[in-house]
Amino acid sequence: MKALQYTRIGSHPEVVEIEKPTPGPGQVLLQVTAAGVCHSDEYVMGLSADEYAAAGYPLPLTLGHEGAGIVAELGEGVEHVSVGDAVAVYGPWGCGRCHNCSQGKENYCTNAAAEGIMPPGLGAPGSMAEYMIVDDARHLVPLGDLDPVENVSLTDAGLTPYHAIKNSLPKLGAGTTAVVIGTGGLGHVAIQILRALTSATVVALDISEEKLGLATEVGAHHAVLSDEDAVAAIRELTGGLGAEAVFDFVGAGPTIATAVGAAAAEADVTIVGIGGGTAHVGFGSIAYDAALRIPYWGSRSELIEVLDLARSGHVGVEVQQYSLEDGPKAYEALASGSVRGRAVIVP
Ligand code: NAD
Ligand code: ZN
Ligand code: ZN
Repeated sequence: MKALQYTRIGSHPEVVEIEKPTPGPGQVLLQVTAAGVCHSDEYVMGLSADEYAAAGYPLPLTLGHEGAGIVAELGEGVEHVSVGDAVAVYGPWGCGRCHNCSQGKENYCTNAAAEGIMPPGLGAPGSMAEYMIVDDARHLVPLGDLDPVENVSLTDAGLTPYHAIKNSLPKLGAGTTAVVIGTGGLGHVAIQILRALTSATVVALDISEEKLGLATEVGAHHAVLSDEDAVAAIRELTGGLGAEAVFDFVGAGPTIATAVGAAAAEADVTIVGIGGGTAHVGFGSIAYDAALRIPYWGSRSELIEVLDLARSGHVGVEVQQYSLEDGPKAYEALASGSVRGRAVIVP
């Protein structure tokens, strides 16, 4: 079968021919219907050889941590899933037994590192192939009548902002402001989730006028250019108070400085992007009682909730479709900043 793999440190992803996998006991084989392209893949492929090895990633690595498919074959002992089911893949695989996994928070599994459990596309072979192995049926969520191509990215570009926002909901009552920095794949879904779950005024920041156009289209009340004047612009929009919640989907030094600078007293500053920046906080450098959070992905039950938000029409992903053969072009488009919403590969 064909797969899109990262084969050598510093190389571009390439389409290769590999053997179709067979599901072992407890595993499920999916015929992939869609695979989303995330900026985190670019981060992984940008690591040095030492950093890559330290993170435990294998080479070659079949990419794709947003996946959807049709159940094609069941390993021994698999129950409650049938061949032909349309499913989405819950990506942050955990052990399934620890305290966090027991609550569905496999993204915070306390055994995964020690047991070598890694997400598909970020260690285990991912969804950018004609077929993929899912390690356990509990990592499958029924798609029902949701279109896989339109909705596959909800497994990360939807789930990650949903988890980030859900924990800040108590801060986002009437009359409040939420800021979304970076309105790409994750950010444009975050805006819709904020509009669906809160009455907050949503301020979107990006460096691209086109991305700001998308932000407004999907529901942002204000679009602000992300530069050194952004904090002043947010303060002006909030009567000098700042925002009750700031979500940074870039995570670079300058955007984290904006996020910290725009926070109101008791605000949540949530840094989702892995752009290499760090926050400088201390007495006088951030509003009183502001909290900083660095979330990772989301829980199994939150993925079910995000898919329900899509089913009820509250959230939709802006998708640009690529064939598996054209997969490398999707990554070129991502690197050049020209993807509007999310690039999705359809094998
Ligand atoms: P993307 O490329 O689709 O979107 C990034 C957006 O940020 C683009 O619209 C870009 O124009 C904008 N941007 C770049 N520099 C900016 C700046 N200085 N100010 C404002 N906007 C700027 O990326 P994505 O796939 O949405 O991922 C966003 C980030 O989240 C990445 O760093 C990714 O690795 C990370 N991520 C983290 C998690 C997690 O669990 N923490 C999960 C998924 C992705
Ligand atoms: Zn991702
Ligand atoms: Zn666990």
